[in-house]
Amino acid sequence: MHEMSICQALMDQVERIAKEQGASRVDSIVLSVGPLSGVEPVLLSRAYEVARLQTVAENAPLEIETGAIVVECRSCGASGEAQVNRLVCPSCGNWQVNLVKGDELLLLRLEVSGIEANTGVGE
Ligand SMILES: [Zn+2]
Repeated sequence: MHEMSICQALMDQVERIAKEQGASRVDSIVLSVGPLSGVEPVLLSRAYEVARLQTVAENAPLEIETGAIVVECRSCGASGEAQVNRLVCPSCGNWQVNLVKGDELLLLRLEVSGIEANTGVGE
């Protein structure tokens, strides 16, 4: 499953960030998944339920923001939102458009906790 490998890459990224910050727990993860990213949010959520087990993000809910598709017209220069099955200029209807936004797959936010104060003093 495509989403499972994406999820595993995400967990690697999450664990690395948590480690860098010295955090023992991840409280929440927010992802931006564009409608044209080729990733199905429902499948990604399902894959995450498995991928998060035994990681620092075991108790962290995953929030997925799908966002909009934004195109820029190569003819009239207008930009605006478009539909997945109708990638045309919102102003003049030209189909020669550049995709500005909509195919991203990004880690937007990560909340961590349990950061150890590094005092150098033992128990
Ligand atoms: Zn146009």
